[in-house]
Amino acid sequence: MMETPMASTATSTPTALTDSFGRSITDLRISVTERCNYRCVYCRTGQGEASNHAEPPAEPLSWSELERLARAFVGLGIKKVRLTGGEPLLRPGLVEFVASVAALGVTDIALTTNGHLLAPLAGPLRRAGLTRVTVSLDSLQPESFTRITRVPGGLDRVLEALAAAAAARLWPVKVNVVLLRGYNDGEIEAFARFARERDCVVRFIEFMPLEEGSLWSRARVVPMDEIVQRISRVHALDPLPRKPGETACRYRFHDGADGEIGIVAPVTSPFCNQCTRVRVTADGKLRTCLFSLREWDLRPALREPSADTLAGRIRRAVAQKEERHHIGEPGFVKPARGMVQIGG
Ligand code: SAM
Repeated sequence: MMETPMASTATSTPTALTDSFGRSITDLRISVTERCNYRCVYCRTGQGEASNHAEPPAEPLSWSELERLARAFVGLGIKKVRLTGGEPLLRPGLVEFVASVAALGVTDIALTTNGHLLAPLAGPLRRAGLTRVTVSLDSLQPESFTRITRVPGGLDRVLEALAAAAAARLWPVKVNVVLLRGYNDGEIEAFARFARERDCVVRFIEFMPLEEGSLWSRARVVPMDEIVQRISRVHALDPLPRKPGETACRYRFHDGADGEIGIVAPVTSPFCNQCTRVRVTADGKLRTCLFSLREWDLRPALREPSADTLAGRIRRAVAQKEERHHIGEPGFVKPARGMVQIGG
């Protein structure tokens, strides 16, 4: 029988979660599964489900454990919850889990998905309380889409998912594009046109060294300056003010056209001093930075009867949140787990 999450209401008064650098932690990203139906070159090895993990995937937290976890974070002042993976839509029960997070009083619940399974679920997710969706789409050309995702025939499904998300009022729909030199860097202008025509937010993301394989090099990264320059040659851009905790530099089109461009530039323009996020992996490990070399196992505290034990462990971990990442610096150490296991 499929396990379904419990719905309940938060009771404790939120008290701010603050790290030792004075940053307030208000955003929680929860990975609900490590499994993924895509094998994107910048993320996976392409060698099947287990890829090159030394260990088989760990047992994920149950939905009721995830609900308890979300409740603890909400009690500590978390305002925004993003559900991710792996591919979150692969796990049955996600709609009910969204409803249980909404029942905690969270009004900003987002989902990051590759979109492959989204079209029929967009309406149910919206009705359950999902407010926003980000769909990963790295190429608008079928051959290139398949070269990157290593899944044939997916592009049409993802385009259909974007339409379904807009129809379900999961608006504004965001499209994540990880730019890779030699793969899709020729499509920057086409994606800008796509943002205007579809009235969506296209967010270009600089490639980070978080893949299971070893594709990353500085030369593979398409830097933010180049993206802005190339779009500006075709459509003038006006910068938008950066919201607190916002990862992207945002731009609108100067001619007033619909759509928006965002650029997430962790490599060439890190935003660590603005970071408001922590992550929990599908197996219950709290990560205070994407590039953390240390994880905090929350599973034992989740099984303790007292909610204080869990809250205390979260507080202690957050107090030790890293000041910043060290991508590209001498001595940089890549985390043992890649993006698919951490949750992007
Ligand atoms: N399966 C979902 C998806 O494809 O959106 C959610 C998980 S995926 C790990 C979350 C996001 O991380 C995606 O937008 C993906 O493109 C991005 N991502 C994965 N690996 C990355 C990397 N090495 N550098 C930058 N972004 C990456």
